[in-house]
Amino acid sequence: VTDWQGKHVTVAGLGVSGIPAAKVLHARGAVVTVVNDGDDARAREQAAELEALGITVRLGDGATLPEGTELVVTTPGWKPDKPLFTAAREAGLEIWGDVELAWRLRGPDAAPWLAVTGTNGKTTTVQMLASILKAAGLRTAAVGNIGVSLLDVVLGEEQYDVLAVELSSYQLHWAPSLRAHSAAVLNLAPDHLDWHGSMEAYAADKGRIYEGNRVACVYNADATDKPSTEDLVREADVEEGCRAIGFTLATPGPSQLGVVDGILVDRAFVDNRQKNAQELAEVSDVDPPAPHNIANALAAAALARAFGVPAAAVRDGLRNFTPDAHRIAHVADVAGVAYIDDSKATNTHAAEASLAAYESIVWIAGGLAKGATFDELVAKSAERLRGAVLIGEDRALIREALARHAPEVPVVDLDRTDTGAMLAAVQEAQRLAAAGDTVLLAPACASMDMFANYNKRGDAFAAAVRELGA
Ligand code: ADP
Repeated sequence: VTDWQGKHVTVAGLGVSGIPAAKVLHARGAVVTVVNDGDDARAREQAAELEALGITVRLGDGATLPEGTELVVTTPGWKPDKPLFTAAREAGLEIWGDVELAWRLRGPDAAPWLAVTGTNGKTTTVQMLASILKAAGLRTAAVGNIGVSLLDVVLGEEQYDVLAVELSSYQLHWAPSLRAHSAAVLNLAPDHLDWHGSMEAYAADKGRIYEGNRVACVYNADATDKPSTEDLVREADVEEGCRAIGFTLATPGPSQLGVVDGILVDRAFVDNRQKNAQELAEVSDVDPPAPHNIANALAAAALARAFGVPAAAVRDGLRNFTPDAHRIAHVADVAGVAYIDDSKATNTHAAEASLAAYESIVWIAGGLAKGATFDELVAKSAERLRGAVLIGEDRALIREALARHAPEVPVVDLDRTDTGAMLAAVQEAQRLAAAGDTVLLAPACASMDMFANYNKRGDAFAAAVRELGA
């Protein structure tokens, strides 16, 4: 336990993690200085609130390390190559993110953490996990990079038996001493590489989640990318007796969870020693029963089983789980065509997963590409495409990929950004679709060129579909 009295701590960045960190450290007697790049009206308001408590705030200067700093606590999103961090490292100081701070401040009887990271599927998996743990009668919460602050939960009054924790690669980068009970890396696809510097650095930060695990390191046994999540497990330094547990959509091997004849099966944690497999749930218990989501369910089940949860609670927890909005949400059937909203598919890896879940698809895609290329996505999905309707600023990139890999697929290139554009897109999709097809909004792009966020984009899609049906 650190003695905070009189310790000089620099908090890098105001905002959702910086403000609570500054307050908590100040309350424990630390001498806190907050540094922040921005100096706008919002920052001034936040600064005034902290200054009223006696915390020093420096606006418009997030680069210089204040004299006398003994520890830096940073907002996870700040890039590691910032001059502030270079100076801190040169001075031999530790740099903690919000997760590290919560981990260090947790009490002696704190609940163990079941941790989840990955490029896609984190939120869904953590929510499934929390649902399973609740079904087992455990006091738990889904926390972390998911809207519920870890610091609040760790320091709050409420008692927990175990926490389901979502961690981003940024948070892991700044969490050197975190030791989870068990952890899962769901998948690894290039993302945020500008921040991490390289795919290797990104993978290494994700792999941090396995460091020091006590019971299980859960990896994706179907992944073909290199490094694989299994490679990360192999490189991790774990506690003695900690097991590597794989999840697969195929028949599981020993120490794996997988799928046999539509049943989720556990061969890693078997209740009855006479048997070599434990049935957990049916594929149809998972909502939606798309392949990538079955993988999420298996990862959640693996972590719950590592914590000793019985099979029946896995099934009940999965049945109780309903996905958040805009994640493969079935909006309506109109004239035999299913309309699906996966507005949350904001990158190509996510869109690839949702395109893999349907057979004959009219695909609505486009928006801000964030530097992505679409060749692999289109090549892998080409044979399932009945047509495509493209929207948004970077739609030409998708159009060109379609021309290269799916030249026979009819494409409507919608050059509109007005408020009626989504209705026009849905009408075009309806024209291209036949009974039995699926019209799928899986943009593979960010939404901010046309919408405030992916929620608004999905809402516009749903409203347009309802107009078709009216
Ligand atoms: P995250 O929290 O990692 O952003 P979410 O659970 O919010 O992930 O899902 C985001 C989107 O990613 C979903 O709409 C879906 O299209 C896609 N997705 C979910 N799980 C997976 C997975 N296991 N593999 C690939 N894509 C996925």
